Amino acid sequence: MYGDHPYHKSCYRELYHPKCDVCKQFIPTNMNGLIEYRAHPFWMQKYCPSHEHDGTPRCCSCERMEPHDTKYVTLDDGRKLCLECLDSAIMETLECQPLYLDIREFYEGLNMKVDQQIPLLLVERQALNEAMEGEKRGHHHLPETRGLCMSEEQIVSTVSRRPRFGPGFSIIELVTEPFRLTRQCEVTAILILFGLPRLLTGSILAHEMMHAWLRLKGYRGLSPEIEEGICQVLAHMWLDSEIMSGSGSNIASSSSSSSSSGPSKKGSKITI
Ligand SMILES: [Zn+2]
Ligand SMILES: [Zn+2]
Ligand SMILES: [Zn+2]
Repeated sequence: MYGDHPYHKSCYRELYHPKCDVCKQFIPTNMNGLIEYRAHPFWMQKYCPSHEHDGTPRCCSCERMEPHDTKYVTLDDGRKLCLECLDSAIMETLECQPLYLDIREFYEGLNMKVDQQIPLLLVERQALNEAMEGEKRGHHHLPETRGLCMSEEQIVSTVSRRPRFGPGFSIIELVTEPFRLTRQCEVTAILILFGLPRLLTGSILAHEMMHAWLRLKGYRGLSPEIEEGICQVLAHMWLDSEIMSGSGSNIASSSSSSSSSGPSKKGSKITI
């Protein structure tokens, strides 16, 4: 009813029955006859619960599900990236150096200058995992690792040229080169997963820089939780500084995911 005027059933449905942002259909009712949908806690993207199990891909950066009428790109390690995140994605090691300089300056501004020239390398997921295995000191694992501060001498395969995308939005040419890390100081390199948007890459880098700083300054014996917490604070401080200065080239794709604190893979359950 609208005032005294009743709705047609179909008009009412068209106006008030929630539609799925993924398949664009009306969200079906569950066994109890209630409309149940999931929604991403930040983006509020609404979708049928079934898409959590039917293989619908999520963007590896912002976690939004791929709507059926849109195509995400596929990185060669299987990750999917939405077009908004792709827009400012940093794809190779060289391309990341200006951001690295920004973050070094950010640390300097906090009176926490890192004097050592630590190599920063962008890598594929596989290379990141292998490097992590090769590190002797224990790491506090987050659900998904996207960056690593290394202390061992290893050979790391780094993404050295911006990949090209072919038909079907998949990478057809990804060039990697071996990079030999030598130990000049307590930290041999910082590795970051390639293909993430600038602000997310920067926040991971700011986080790893703090691990490096603590190691270089000889702060040992912090509990892993405390150390992770400190690093997360620095990541957030850098993001804040970017948003304040307005230089974040794509604030929308900074991702909801509190960068690397392991957001839940499931949307919150909403029943109406
Ligand atoms: Zn749906
Ligand atoms: Zn995305
Ligand atoms: Zn960490």
